[in-house]
Amino acid sequence: MTDVFGDLVGQDEAVAMLRRAAASAAALLRAPVTVLAGGHDDLDALAEEYDGDPAPAPADPGAGMTHAWIFTGPPGSGRSVAARAFAAALECVHGTGCGSCPGCHTTLTGTHADVRLVVPEGLSIGVNEMRALVLRAASAPSGGRWQIVIIEDADRLTEAAGNALLKAIEEPPPRTVFLLCAPSTHPDDISVTIRSRCRVVPLRQPPPAAVAEVLVRRDGVAPDVAEWAAAAAQGHVGRARRLARDPEARQRRDAVLAVPRRLTGVGAAFDAASALIEAAEAEAAASVAEIDEAERTALQTALGAGGTGRGAAGAMRGAAGQLKDLEKRQKSRATRAQRDALDRALVDLAGFYRDAIVMALRAPVAPVHTDTASLAGAGAQKWDAEGSLRRLEAVLECRAAIEANVKPRIAVEAMMLALWRG
Ligand SMILES: [Zn+2]
Repeated sequence: MTDVFGDLVGQDEAVAMLRRAAASAAALLRAPVTVLAGGHDDLDALAEEYDGDPAPAPADPGAGMTHAWIFTGPPGSGRSVAARAFAAALECVHGTGCGSCPGCHTTLTGTHADVRLVVPEGLSIGVNEMRALVLRAASAPSGGRWQIVIIEDADRLTEAAGNALLKAIEEPPPRTVFLLCAPSTHPDDISVTIRSRCRVVPLRQPPPAAVAEVLVRRDGVAPDVAEWAAAAAQGHVGRARRLARDPEARQRRDAVLAVPRRLTGVGAAFDAASALIEAAEAEAAASVAEIDEAERTALQTALGAGGTGRGAAGAMRGAAGQLKDLEKRQKSRATRAQRDALDRALVDLAGFYRDAIVMALRAPVAPVHTDTASLAGAGAQKWDAEGSLRRLEAVLECRAAIEANVKPRIAVEAMMLALWRG
Protein backbone atom coordinates (compact mmCIF):
# COMPACT_ATOMS: atom_id res chain seq x y z
CA MET A 1 0.00 0.00 0.00
CA THR A 2 1.17 3.53 -0.63
CA ASP A 3 2.06 5.86 2.21
CA VAL A 4 0.23 9.02 3.29
CA PHE A 5 1.74 11.10 0.49
CA GLY A 6 0.42 8.77 -2.23
CA ASP A 7 -2.64 10.98 -2.85
CA LEU A 8 -0.59 14.06 -3.69
CA VAL A 9 -0.76 14.18 -7.44
CA GLY A 10 2.19 15.58 -9.37
CA GLN A 11 3.81 17.25 -6.31
CA ASP A 12 7.19 15.53 -6.12
CA GLU A 13 9.13 18.52 -4.77
CA ALA A 14 6.64 19.34 -2.02
CA VAL A 15 6.47 15.70 -0.99
CA ALA A 16 10.27 15.46 -0.76
CA MET A 17 10.32 18.58 1.44
CA LEU A 18 7.60 17.21 3.73
CA ARG A 19 9.27 13.81 4.04
CA ARG A 20 12.49 15.45 5.18
CA ALA A 21 10.62 17.58 7.68
CA ALA A 22 8.75 14.57 9.06
CA ALA A 23 12.04 12.71 9.47
CA SER A 24 13.52 15.71 11.32
CA ALA A 25 10.46 15.92 13.54
CA ALA A 26 10.75 12.24 14.38
CA ALA A 27 14.46 12.64 15.16
CA LEU A 28 13.57 15.54 17.43
CA LEU A 29 11.15 13.36 19.39
CA ARG A 30 13.75 10.60 19.71
CA ALA A 31 16.46 12.97 20.91
CA PRO A 32 17.64 12.27 24.50
CA VAL A 33 16.58 15.75 25.60
CA THR A 34 13.08 15.85 24.33
CA VAL A 35 11.25 19.04 23.55
CA LEU A 36 8.81 18.34 26.33
CA ALA A 37 11.46 17.80 29.02
CA GLY A 38 13.80 20.47 27.78
CA GLY A 39 11.28 23.21 27.29
CA HIS A 40 11.33 25.12 24.06
CA ASP A 41 15.02 24.75 23.43
CA ASP A 42 15.17 22.37 20.52
CA LEU A 43 12.48 23.94 18.42
CA ASP A 44 13.50 27.43 19.40
CA ALA A 45 16.96 26.71 18.11
CA LEU A 46 15.40 25.45 14.91
CA ALA A 47 13.09 28.41 14.66
CA GLU A 48 16.03 30.77 15.08
CA GLU A 49 17.85 28.94 12.37
CA TYR A 50 14.99 29.73 10.02
CA ASP A 51 14.31 33.20 11.29
CA GLY A 52 17.91 34.03 10.59
CA ASP A 53 17.50 32.79 7.09
CA PRO A 54 15.71 35.08 4.65
CA ALA A 55 12.60 33.26 3.43
CA PRO A 56 13.22 33.09 -0.34
CA ALA A 57 16.12 30.68 -0.61
CA PRO A 58 17.41 28.95 2.50
CA ALA A 59 20.29 26.56 1.80
CA ASP A 60 18.09 23.54 2.33
CA PRO A 61 14.44 24.50 2.62
CA GLY A 62 13.30 20.93 3.27
CA ALA A 63 15.50 20.06 6.19
CA GLY A 64 14.44 20.39 9.77
CA MET A 65 11.14 20.98 11.39
CA THR A 66 9.34 24.18 12.20
CA HIS A 67 6.16 25.24 13.99
CA ALA A 68 4.17 26.88 11.26
CA TRP A 69 3.61 26.01 7.62
CA ILE A 70 1.60 27.42 4.75
CA PHE A 71 0.48 25.17 1.92
CA THR A 72 -0.22 27.25 -1.17
CA GLY A 73 -1.48 26.39 -4.62
CA PRO A 74 -4.43 26.81 -6.97
CA PRO A 75 -7.80 25.30 -5.99
CA GLY A 76 -7.75 21.55 -6.38
CA SER A 77 -3.97 21.25 -6.27
CA GLY A 78 -4.37 19.43 -2.97
CA ARG A 79 -3.47 21.99 -0.29
CA SER A 80 -5.56 20.36 2.40
CA VAL A 81 -4.64 16.86 1.21
CA ALA A 82 -0.98 17.82 1.61
CA ALA A 83 -1.56 19.35 5.05
CA ARG A 84 -3.38 16.26 6.24
CA ALA A 85 -0.74 13.94 4.85
CA PHE A 86 1.98 15.92 6.63
CA ALA A 87 -0.03 15.85 9.87
CA ALA A 88 -0.30 12.08 9.51
CA ALA A 89 3.45 11.77 8.94
CA LEU A 90 4.07 13.80 12.13
CA GLU A 91 1.70 11.60 14.14
CA CYS A 92 2.91 8.37 12.49
CA VAL A 93 4.35 5.96 15.08
CA HIS A 94 7.21 5.26 12.67
CA GLY A 95 7.67 8.95 11.93
CA THR A 96 7.42 8.40 8.19
CA GLY A 97 3.73 8.54 7.32
CA CYS A 98 3.56 4.80 6.64
CA GLY A 99 -0.17 5.01 6.01
CA SER A 100 -1.10 1.96 8.05
CA CYS A 101 -0.23 2.61 11.72
CA PRO A 102 -2.85 3.97 14.15
CA GLY A 103 -1.26 7.45 14.08
CA CYS A 104 -1.52 7.73 10.30
CA HIS A 105 -4.92 6.11 10.19
CA THR A 106 -6.63 8.24 12.84
CA THR A 107 -5.13 11.43 11.43
CA LEU A 108 -6.37 10.69 7.91
CA THR A 109 -9.83 9.71 9.10
CA GLY A 110 -10.09 12.83 11.28
CA THR A 111 -10.25 11.05 14.64
CA HIS A 112 -6.77 11.70 16.04
CA ALA A 113 -7.08 13.38 19.44
CA ASP A 114 -4.19 15.78 18.77
CA VAL A 115 -5.12 16.89 15.26
CA ARG A 116 -7.70 19.62 14.79
CA LEU A 117 -9.05 20.59 11.43
CA VAL A 118 -10.68 23.97 10.93
CA VAL A 119 -12.85 24.17 7.87
CA PRO A 120 -14.51 27.56 7.69
CA GLU A 121 -18.19 27.05 7.17
CA GLY A 122 -19.09 30.61 6.41
CA LEU A 123 -17.25 33.20 4.42
CA SER A 124 -14.69 33.76 7.12
CA ILE A 125 -13.15 32.26 10.24
CA GLY A 126 -14.05 34.36 13.28
CA VAL A 127 -11.95 35.47 16.20
CA ASN A 128 -13.79 33.46 18.86
CA GLU A 129 -13.33 30.26 16.96
CA MET A 130 -9.63 31.04 16.56
CA ARG A 131 -9.06 31.94 20.22
CA ALA A 132 -10.68 28.71 21.40
CA LEU A 133 -8.57 26.78 18.94
CA VAL A 134 -5.30 28.43 19.91
CA LEU A 135 -6.06 27.76 23.56
CA ARG A 136 -6.67 24.07 23.03
CA ALA A 137 -3.67 23.76 20.75
CA ALA A 138 -1.42 24.94 23.60
CA SER A 139 -1.99 21.77 25.64
CA ALA A 140 0.51 18.91 25.58
CA PRO A 141 -0.23 16.30 22.90
CA SER A 142 -2.05 13.34 24.44
CA GLY A 143 -0.36 10.91 22.06
CA GLY A 144 3.11 12.13 23.00
CA ARG A 145 4.00 13.44 19.53
CA TRP A 146 2.59 16.71 18.16
CA GLN A 147 -0.43 18.89 18.73
CA ILE A 148 -1.52 19.88 15.22
CA VAL A 149 -3.95 22.50 13.97
CA ILE A 150 -4.85 22.45 10.27
CA ILE A 151 -6.59 25.57 8.99
CA GLU A 152 -8.14 25.12 5.58
CA ASP A 153 -8.76 28.34 3.68
CA ALA A 154 -6.62 30.43 5.99
CA ASP A 155 -7.25 33.27 3.52
CA ARG A 156 -10.73 33.43 5.02
CA LEU A 157 -9.48 34.39 8.49
CA THR A 158 -10.88 37.67 9.72
CA GLU A 159 -8.26 40.23 10.69
CA ALA A 160 -8.93 39.69 14.39
CA ALA A 161 -8.72 35.92 13.97
CA GLY A 162 -5.47 36.35 12.08
CA ASN A 163 -4.05 38.34 14.99
CA ALA A 164 -5.10 35.68 17.49
CA LEU A 165 -3.36 33.09 15.33
CA LEU A 166 -0.28 35.25 14.91
CA LYS A 167 0.23 35.41 18.67
CA ALA A 168 0.25 31.63 18.85
CA ILE A 169 2.65 31.34 15.93
CA GLU A 170 4.98 33.95 17.39
CA GLU A 171 5.24 32.15 20.69
CA PRO A 172 4.48 28.61 19.78
CA PRO A 173 3.87 26.04 22.49
CA PRO A 174 6.75 23.53 22.28
CA ARG A 175 4.87 20.69 20.62
CA THR A 176 2.32 22.58 18.59
CA VAL A 177 2.36 22.75 14.80
CA PHE A 178 0.14 24.97 12.68
CA LEU A 179 -0.60 23.97 9.09
CA LEU A 180 -2.33 26.71 7.08
CA CYS A 181 -3.75 26.34 3.59
CA ALA A 182 -4.20 29.35 1.28
CA PRO A 183 -4.28 30.01 -2.48
CA SER A 184 -1.05 32.01 -2.34
CA THR A 185 1.19 34.04 -0.04
CA HIS A 186 -0.13 37.29 -1.53
CA PRO A 187 -0.98 39.77 1.28
CA ASP A 188 -4.65 39.54 0.19
CA ASP A 189 -4.58 35.86 1.13
CA ILE A 190 -2.35 35.80 4.17
CA SER A 191 -0.98 38.62 6.28
CA VAL A 192 2.67 39.46 5.80
CA THR A 193 3.43 38.95 9.47
CA ILE A 194 1.91 35.47 9.56
CA ARG A 195 3.63 34.57 6.33
CA SER A 196 7.01 35.68 7.70
CA ARG A 197 6.63 33.17 10.53
CA CYS A 198 5.76 30.24 8.31
CA ARG A 199 7.59 27.91 5.98
CA VAL A 200 5.86 27.82 2.61
CA VAL A 201 5.07 24.59 0.78
CA PRO A 202 4.15 25.58 -2.77
CA LEU A 203 1.98 23.13 -4.67
CA ARG A 204 1.59 23.38 -8.41
CA GLN A 205 -1.39 22.72 -10.61
CA PRO A 206 -1.00 19.04 -11.39
CA PRO A 207 -0.70 18.22 -15.10
CA PRO A 208 -3.77 16.48 -16.61
CA ALA A 209 -1.79 13.31 -17.29
CA ALA A 210 -0.93 12.97 -13.58
CA VAL A 211 -4.57 13.57 -12.60
CA ALA A 212 -5.80 11.00 -15.13
CA GLU A 213 -3.26 8.48 -13.88
CA VAL A 214 -4.48 8.75 -10.28
CA LEU A 215 -8.15 8.46 -11.35
CA VAL A 216 -7.35 5.22 -13.14
CA ARG A 217 -5.10 3.79 -10.44
CA ARG A 218 -7.00 4.75 -7.32
CA ASP A 219 -10.59 5.21 -8.40
CA GLY A 220 -10.76 2.54 -11.11
CA VAL A 221 -11.97 5.01 -13.74
CA ALA A 222 -11.68 3.88 -17.38
CA PRO A 223 -8.61 5.49 -19.03
CA ASP A 224 -10.54 7.41 -21.73
CA VAL A 225 -13.01 8.83 -19.18
CA ALA A 226 -10.12 9.71 -16.85
CA GLU A 227 -8.31 11.60 -19.59
CA TRP A 228 -11.40 13.57 -20.53
CA ALA A 229 -12.25 14.40 -16.90
CA ALA A 230 -8.68 15.43 -16.03
CA ALA A 231 -8.56 17.87 -18.96
CA ALA A 232 -12.06 19.23 -18.28
CA ALA A 233 -11.26 19.79 -14.59
CA GLN A 234 -8.21 21.91 -15.46
CA GLY A 235 -5.90 20.40 -12.87
CA HIS A 236 -8.48 20.22 -10.07
CA VAL A 237 -8.18 16.67 -8.76
CA GLY A 238 -11.41 16.54 -6.76
CA ARG A 239 -13.39 18.08 -9.59
CA ALA A 240 -11.94 15.58 -12.07
CA ARG A 241 -12.99 12.71 -9.82
CA ARG A 242 -16.53 14.11 -9.51
CA LEU A 243 -16.85 14.57 -13.26
CA ALA A 244 -15.64 11.02 -13.85
CA ARG A 245 -18.01 9.46 -11.33
CA ASP A 246 -21.06 11.67 -10.81
CA PRO A 247 -23.57 11.90 -13.69
CA GLU A 248 -25.23 14.95 -12.10
CA ALA A 249 -21.93 16.83 -12.05
CA ARG A 250 -21.56 16.04 -15.76
CA GLN A 251 -25.08 17.28 -16.50
CA ARG A 252 -24.44 20.55 -14.69
CA ARG A 253 -21.26 21.01 -16.68
CA ASP A 254 -23.09 20.27 -19.96
CA ALA A 255 -25.68 22.93 -19.09
CA VAL A 256 -22.95 25.48 -18.42
CA LEU A 257 -21.14 24.72 -21.66
CA ALA A 258 -24.42 25.10 -23.56
CA VAL A 259 -24.58 28.76 -22.49
CA PRO A 260 -22.49 30.26 -25.34
CA ARG A 261 -24.77 28.93 -28.08
CA ARG A 262 -27.94 29.93 -26.22
CA LEU A 263 -27.05 33.62 -26.09
CA THR A 264 -29.20 34.83 -28.98
CA GLY A 265 -30.50 38.10 -27.53
CA VAL A 266 -30.97 40.23 -24.42
CA GLY A 267 -33.84 38.09 -23.16
CA ALA A 268 -31.83 34.93 -23.67
CA ALA A 269 -28.89 36.48 -21.81
CA PHE A 270 -31.06 37.20 -18.75
CA ASP A 271 -32.58 33.73 -18.95
CA ALA A 272 -29.11 32.20 -19.06
CA ALA A 273 -28.09 34.25 -16.02
CA SER A 274 -31.14 33.07 -14.06
CA ALA A 275 -30.53 29.47 -15.05
CA LEU A 276 -26.89 29.63 -13.95
CA ILE A 277 -27.73 31.22 -10.59
CA GLU A 278 -30.58 28.82 -9.91
CA ALA A 279 -28.47 25.80 -10.81
CA ALA A 280 -25.79 26.96 -8.36
CA GLU A 281 -28.43 27.48 -5.66
CA ALA A 282 -29.91 24.04 -6.24
CA GLU A 283 -26.51 22.38 -6.19
CA ALA A 284 -25.57 24.20 -2.98
CA ALA A 285 -28.89 23.43 -1.29
CA ALA A 286 -28.48 19.74 -2.05
CA SER A 287 -24.93 19.72 -0.71
CA VAL A 288 -25.78 21.28 2.66
CA ALA A 289 -29.32 19.92 3.28
CA GLU A 290 -28.25 16.68 4.91
CA ILE A 291 -25.70 18.17 7.28
CA ASP A 292 -28.05 21.06 8.22
CA GLU A 293 -30.74 18.61 9.25
CA ALA A 294 -28.29 16.42 11.20
CA GLU A 295 -26.97 19.45 13.10
CA ARG A 296 -30.45 20.67 13.96
CA THR A 297 -31.49 17.25 15.26
CA ALA A 298 -28.29 16.89 17.28
CA LEU A 299 -28.72 20.30 18.87
CA GLN A 300 -32.37 19.68 19.72
CA THR A 301 -31.45 16.35 21.29
CA ALA A 302 -28.64 17.96 23.27
CA LEU A 303 -30.93 20.69 24.53
CA GLY A 304 -33.61 18.17 25.47
CA ALA A 305 -37.21 18.59 24.39
CA GLY A 306 -39.24 20.53 26.93
CA GLY A 307 -38.23 20.33 30.61
CA THR A 308 -39.78 21.86 33.70
CA GLY A 309 -38.74 23.08 37.12
CA ARG A 310 -36.04 25.44 38.28
CA GLY A 311 -33.83 26.78 35.54
CA ALA A 312 -36.04 25.50 32.74
CA ALA A 313 -37.06 28.98 31.62
CA GLY A 314 -33.44 30.13 31.54
CA ALA A 315 -32.45 26.98 29.69
CA MET A 316 -35.15 27.62 27.11
CA ARG A 317 -33.85 31.13 26.52
CA GLY A 318 -30.35 29.71 26.10
CA ALA A 319 -31.69 27.10 23.72
CA ALA A 320 -33.34 29.71 21.53
CA GLY A 321 -30.03 31.55 21.33
CA GLN A 322 -28.16 28.39 20.35
CA LEU A 323 -30.70 27.54 17.66
CA LYS A 324 -30.38 31.04 16.30
CA ASP A 325 -26.58 30.73 16.24
CA LEU A 326 -26.85 27.46 14.40
CA GLU A 327 -29.22 28.95 11.82
CA LYS A 328 -26.82 31.82 11.27
CA ARG A 329 -23.90 29.43 10.73
CA GLN A 330 -25.94 27.31 8.37
CA LYS A 331 -27.03 30.30 6.34
CA SER A 332 -23.46 31.44 5.99
CA ARG A 333 -22.39 27.94 4.92
CA ALA A 334 -25.16 27.86 2.30
CA THR A 335 -23.96 31.18 0.87
CA ARG A 336 -20.46 29.84 0.67
CA ALA A 337 -21.61 26.63 -1.05
CA GLN A 338 -23.56 28.69 -3.61
CA ARG A 339 -20.54 30.80 -4.41
CA ASP A 340 -18.35 27.74 -4.76
CA ALA A 341 -20.86 26.10 -7.12
CA LEU A 342 -21.16 29.25 -9.18
CA ASP A 343 -17.40 29.62 -9.33
CA ARG A 344 -17.01 26.07 -10.64
CA ALA A 345 -19.49 26.91 -13.43
CA LEU A 346 -17.57 30.08 -14.29
CA VAL A 347 -14.29 28.16 -14.46
CA ASP A 348 -15.89 25.73 -16.94
CA LEU A 349 -17.19 28.62 -19.00
CA ALA A 350 -13.79 30.33 -18.97
CA GLY A 351 -12.30 27.07 -20.27
CA PHE A 352 -14.67 27.17 -23.24
CA TYR A 353 -13.61 30.68 -24.30
CA ARG A 354 -9.98 29.82 -23.68
CA ASP A 355 -10.43 26.92 -26.14
CA ALA A 356 -11.93 29.35 -28.67
CA ILE A 357 -8.89 31.65 -28.35
CA VAL A 358 -6.48 28.74 -28.77
CA MET A 359 -8.31 27.66 -31.92
CA ALA A 360 -8.56 31.16 -33.37
CA LEU A 361 -4.80 31.46 -32.96
CA ARG A 362 -4.28 27.91 -34.24
CA ALA A 363 -2.06 27.27 -31.25
CA PRO A 364 -0.82 23.70 -30.84
CA VAL A 365 -2.39 23.34 -27.41
CA ALA A 366 -4.87 20.69 -26.25
CA PRO A 367 -8.40 21.98 -25.55
CA VAL A 368 -9.71 22.06 -21.97
CA HIS A 369 -13.12 20.72 -23.00
CA THR A 370 -12.51 18.04 -25.62
CA ASP A 371 -16.24 17.33 -25.93
CA THR A 372 -17.16 20.91 -26.89
CA ALA A 373 -14.08 21.53 -29.02
CA SER A 374 -16.09 21.76 -32.24
CA LEU A 375 -18.40 24.36 -30.69
CA ALA A 376 -15.42 26.35 -29.49
CA GLY A 377 -14.03 26.06 -33.03
CA ALA A 378 -17.25 27.51 -34.46
CA GLY A 379 -17.06 30.32 -31.91
CA ALA A 380 -13.45 30.97 -32.89
CA GLN A 381 -14.47 31.50 -36.52
CA LYS A 382 -17.32 33.80 -35.60
CA TRP A 383 -15.58 35.90 -32.94
CA ASP A 384 -11.94 35.74 -33.94
CA ALA A 385 -9.21 35.76 -31.29
CA GLU A 386 -10.04 39.24 -29.96
CA GLY A 387 -13.75 38.56 -29.61
CA SER A 388 -13.00 35.30 -27.81
CA LEU A 389 -10.55 37.07 -25.51
CA ARG A 390 -13.12 39.76 -24.65
CA ARG A 391 -15.57 37.02 -23.71
CA LEU A 392 -12.98 35.22 -21.59
CA GLU A 393 -12.28 38.50 -19.83
CA ALA A 394 -15.99 38.98 -19.15
CA VAL A 395 -16.08 35.61 -17.38
CA LEU A 396 -12.97 36.41 -15.34
CA GLU A 397 -14.35 39.82 -14.41
CA CYS A 398 -17.53 38.16 -13.19
CA ARG A 399 -15.50 35.86 -10.93
CA ALA A 400 -13.53 38.82 -9.58
CA ALA A 401 -16.71 40.83 -8.97
CA ILE A 402 -18.31 38.01 -6.99
CA GLU A 403 -15.10 37.58 -5.02
CA ALA A 404 -15.32 41.32 -4.24
CA ASN A 405 -18.85 40.82 -2.90
CA VAL A 406 -20.90 42.06 -5.85
CA LYS A 407 -24.28 40.34 -5.73
CA PRO A 408 -23.87 37.16 -7.83
CA ARG A 409 -27.02 37.75 -9.90
CA ILE A 410 -25.92 41.22 -10.92
CA ALA A 411 -22.40 40.07 -11.80
CA VAL A 412 -23.69 37.10 -13.81
CA GLU A 413 -26.25 39.21 -15.71
CA ALA A 414 -23.56 41.71 -16.65
CA MET A 415 -21.36 38.85 -17.81
CA MET A 416 -24.08 37.24 -19.93
CA LEU A 417 -24.80 40.56 -21.65
CA ALA A 418 -21.09 41.00 -22.36
CA LEU A 419 -20.86 37.45 -23.71
CA TRP A 420 -23.81 38.06 -26.01
CA ARG A 421 -22.60 41.45 -27.24
CA GLY A 422 -18.99 40.34 -27.43
ZN1 LIG B 1 2.23 5.58 10.18
